[in-house]
Amino acid sequence: MLTAYEPGPDELGALLGDQPAYRTRQVWDGLYRRGLRPAEMTDLPAPLRRRLDDLLPAALTEVVRRTADGGETVKWLWDLWDGRQVETVLMRYRGRVTACVSSQAGCAMACSFCATGQAGFQRNLTTGEIVEQVVAARRAATPDRLSNVVFMGMGEPLANYDRVWPAVQRLHGELGLSARHLTISTVGVVPGIERLAREGLPVTLAVSLHAGNDELRDRLVPLNRRYPLGRLTEACRHYVETSGRRLSFEWALIDGVNDRDSDAEELAAIARPLRAHVNLIPLNPTPGYAVRGSPPERVRSFRRLVVEAGVKATVRVTRGVDIDAACGQLAAASATASAGPAGLAAGPATRRRLQLAIRSGGPVAAAGPDAVLS
Ligand code: SAH
Repeated sequence: MLTAYEPGPDELGALLGDQPAYRTRQVWDGLYRRGLRPAEMTDLPAPLRRRLDDLLPAALTEVVRRTADGGETVKWLWDLWDGRQVETVLMRYRGRVTACVSSQAGCAMACSFCATGQAGFQRNLTTGEIVEQVVAARRAATPDRLSNVVFMGMGEPLANYDRVWPAVQRLHGELGLSARHLTISTVGVVPGIERLAREGLPVTLAVSLHAGNDELRDRLVPLNRRYPLGRLTEACRHYVETSGRRLSFEWALIDGVNDRDSDAEELAAIARPLRAHVNLIPLNPTPGYAVRGSPPERVRSFRRLVVEAGVKATVRVTRGVDIDAACGQLAAASATASAGPAGLAAGPATRRRLQLAIRSGGPVAAAGPDAVLS
């Protein structure tokens, strides 16, 4: 499906074949620099505007938009052309504005604690669907300038490499975001990390580690059976050496599962030689996973242990904690509330909260998993 942010400049030029050459530049500029939809490009003749509006429709239709944290956090649920749904989050911090984008509808990685993983895989997003999420977030951020993009929404970006990478190039080249402010978060798709290391653009890599031994990681992150910790850390080392970029590890702290002292020691032993930064995220509850996030005192002492072992570690600020906080939950709850496509059966509490939020216009949580990164 061709949408506004799908074609490259040559393809756009071909679409505008009967027009004077400068039109391509004008439309491209309208889309990327000004963030306009074709219908809003009043510097184009009206018939061309109408034609472009048909040729290059928006990829995303807003279903729900919620703000939390006094307007600092905005979370969208979008409908795609085929009825699939994805989420995007905008987060304002002092000094930076971050968009958290989805790379797939659903996810095939099946991490046990993740709402998106519980719902299963639907399809890859197109480059245009990814870029448009960032353009929408940038527009909503005005007058502040969008500075960072993290691929920490729904999906596994390195399992959709061929669409994600052109999107990254577009964000860098056309939206002017610096490579180190673009973060790709992966569950550990080793061939994807190796491919990233060969690209010219040194983006930031975040690896969702969550466990420091294969036995536990096999259970939390099934992909570990294919790419166990030895291979993963080797690919990380190679990435750090070739890109010169700092690596970060994400670790969702799960009560009694991966928050013991021995887990902190294993984490530090992996992170220290790589000089990786650790992001600790108290687990957001999801309907399909009964275990809770670690209590605040445990989060503090876990962090202390990691820091004392010589590793930089921060606890991720959770934004808008109340409802559907974890990435993927808004989509999951919406699917259930509307008796829509089969997916995750969100529990009645989640469903009720979502319905209440929609009715009252109350805050929708934006995510812990979606938050952060420098
Ligand atoms: N698939 C990629 C990116 C999307 S998930 C990845 O795994 O990195 C973004 C981050 O949110 C990952 O670190 C993921 O493990 C984490 N996450 C998923 N569900 C979570 C939950 N319920 N609580 C806290 N973090 C979660």
